[in-house]
Amino acid sequence: MSRHDADLVVVGGGPVGLATAVGAAQQGLSVVVLDPREGPADKACGEGLMPGARASLERLGVRLRPGPDAHEMVGIRYLSPGHVAEARFRAGPGLGVRRTVLSAALQARAEEVGVVRERVRAGTPVDDGDGVLVGGLRARWCVAADGLHSPTRRALGLDVPPPRRPAGGARPDGRRFGLRRHYRTAPWGSHVDVLWSRDAEAYVTPVAPDVVGVAVLTSADGDLDSHLARFPGLAARLAGVPHASTTRGAGPLRQVARRRVAGRVLLVGDAAGYVDALTGEGIAVGLACAREAVACVVADDASSYERRWHAASRRYRLLTEGLLAASSVPVLRRGLVPAAERLPRLFGAVVDRLA
Ligand SMILES: Cc1cc2nc3c(=O)[nH]c(=O)nc-3n(C[C@H](O)[C@H](O)[C@H](O)COP(=O)(O)OP(=O)(O)OC[C@H]3O[C@@H](n4cnc5c(N)ncnc54)[C@H](O)[C@@H]3O)c2cc1C
Repeated sequence: MSRHDADLVVVGGGPVGLATAVGAAQQGLSVVVLDPREGPADKACGEGLMPGARASLERLGVRLRPGPDAHEMVGIRYLSPGHVAEARFRAGPGLGVRRTVLSAALQARAEEVGVVRERVRAGTPVDDGDGVLVGGLRARWCVAADGLHSPTRRALGLDVPPPRRPAGGARPDGRRFGLRRHYRTAPWGSHVDVLWSRDAEAYVTPVAPDVVGVAVLTSADGDLDSHLARFPGLAARLAGVPHASTTRGAGPLRQVARRRVAGRVLLVGDAAGYVDALTGEGIAVGLACAREAVACVVADDASSYERRWHAASRRYRLLTEGLLAASSVPVLRRGLVPAAERLPRLFGAVVDRLA
């Protein structure tokens, strides 16, 4: 056995970890993915794959098509009482797809290209200068894709902890959370609908011919049903419709990393830092950054990864930060959908920047 058990160990078998593994294996590297979870992983997510994410997956050889397990997504509609703004993706359609389906497709592709998966919860990676010891293996490089609350980011001191929540009551610090549930009903359109209320957004994504996913993002306290009550039209439409999944939550959404490289360990996906799910781009950006991480590992040089990560995620960070800031001011928030409706070309251009 060589001094290294693998060229690359990927910590985390979510979409970005598996995409990193597939990308590296396609370049001829030996790759092991560590994740304690077995089977297709579920997660709180809006489950909209932007056209850019679809293209990245195609490049990796992961072909997801509309059918019984996925629904074509032609664009985005913003809705508030009395107002609708609609924009189609010019780059071609995206895809609404359950996380379990995406996860199974990526895992199958990973197996096809020789990626080994071990059911292991990784501890802190130890970098000895020539390799990384993690999960009982020694590899030349480690890429951590262990999610929003990345244990690796924290263990390596790369985490910028969020401000503490004051005792009791709402969240004056503005920390946002996401909740999602699926409903067994035929989609009523082929857009992702984003409904705006005073203090929450609801995302309705068609994910199959008979299933829609509903996700709510908010900084307000409460369960999913109490948040949905703020969207009377949607709540009425979903009343009595059987649930197709249990409720899942995630957050706080904003996560900040001091930097994304520590010796031979690189952070990708949500582990590398996350702004918000408001623009529905997490997977697309994660896949783009995964490609940059793979290029660095293949070149055996991580010195450019921080710069590459910033470049690949800049547009997402700027647009999401901008929209978050605007929507946190009540008067701007109220005017957002009417303005998008009045300025369809501008709205279309913004949606295209996100796609
Ligand atoms: C409510 C909500 C709605 C969203 N909507 C969208 C959307 O519509 N479109 C979109 O593109 N994005 C959306 N996102 C963002 C998207 O879900 C994330 O960006 C994406 O899941 C990031 O993938 P990841 O692989 O980095 O992390 P994850 O999917 O979180 O995967 C992390 C993996 O790491 C594993 N792990 C954790 N710790 C360890 C350990 N110690 N050892 C080994 N493995 C470990 C976990 O088991 C998990 O499998 C949304 C997010 C939320 C919260």
